[in-house]
Amino acid sequence: MTKLMDGKLVSSQIRAEISQETEEFIKEMGITPHLLVIIVGNDPASMTYVKNKKKACEAVGFKSTVIELPVETTENHLIELIQQLNEDNSVHGILVQLPLPKHINEEKIIEMISVKKDVDGFHPYQVGCLVSGMDCLKPCTPSGVIELLKYYDIELKGRHAVIIGRSHIVGKPLIQLLLDENATVTICHSQTKDLSQLTKSADILIVAIGKPNFIKADMVKDQAVVVDVGINRLETGRLVGDVAFDEVSTKASYMTPVPGGVGPMTITMLLRNTLKAAKDLQSSSLSI
Ligand code: NDP
Repeated sequence: MTKLMDGKLVSSQIRAEISQETEEFIKEMGITPHLLVIIVGNDPASMTYVKNKKKACEAVGFKSTVIELPVETTENHLIELIQQLNEDNSVHGILVQLPLPKHINEEKIIEMISVKKDVDGFHPYQVGCLVSGMDCLKPCTPSGVIELLKYYDIELKGRHAVIIGRSHIVGKPLIQLLLDENATVTICHSQTKDLSQLTKSADILIVAIGKPNFIKADMVKDQAVVVDVGINRLETGRLVGDVAFDEVSTKASYMTPVPGGVGPMTITMLLRNTLKAAKDLQSSSLSI
């Protein structure tokens, strides 16, 4: 029988620790960690993500502000706003909800966010720090995956981890985080040949492609650990992952559900990054 890796349970424990640490930080420094989220346009999925982030921030004692901008907002206007927020000492984390409307260059916007406030961990400088093993704000979904595996005592050292999906936000940073845990890592993408052969050699299979129920039982090794990052909404309105849960769960030793697996961990890691950013900004202001 597969054992579920329950992201809600693990998140609630980590969030309780964050809440405790936040209370102590506020008491000691008189500073409330503050996450500011900018959303451009009114994409319903993005609006839901932003609402969930705000709720999660407030539940652990952070201040949370959402700036909603119309879809026709210009790139220059967004850049000016970010520059102001970079200078605003009362803001510790800045997150621009992606995707942005097509007329705004996402890479340019991410580069405008102060490295110290980039709680998504997407800034090229953070990416460089991650790869160089330097202290940084780690991207939330990949760190959430690692936390979940650690919570369930999944051995990573020396094991073969196969990632499917090479996006900047999930697959690529996961390579580094898994290497840091001494796993042997293979990464696959849409041009990979003999995908099944690779997935079947995985002790740990992490799937982030955005295709509902793509991974079937015959692509998975017996007793593998399967992490499903995918979130796909079917026409029926039901949310499913990239892994065909019912059939793969007959083979996997551990598996994440969708929803309730990696999703809650992503927001939890965002909270952790925001608290770290607030603390780091506070200590750097003291050392000036
Ligand atoms: P992207 O669309 O940016 O990347 C998808 C990746 O999957 C690409 O590297 C693509 O390859 C690869 N891919 C697509 N089709 C195949 C295929 N048939 N075989 C092998 N590889 C394939 O997606 P994201 O990384 O942003 O997101 C992936 C999924 O994870 C989505 O469902 C998203 O909603 C979800 N997600 C969930 C989060 C959470 O918190 N749980 C957070 C972020 C994302 P190529 O590069 O060659 O095109």
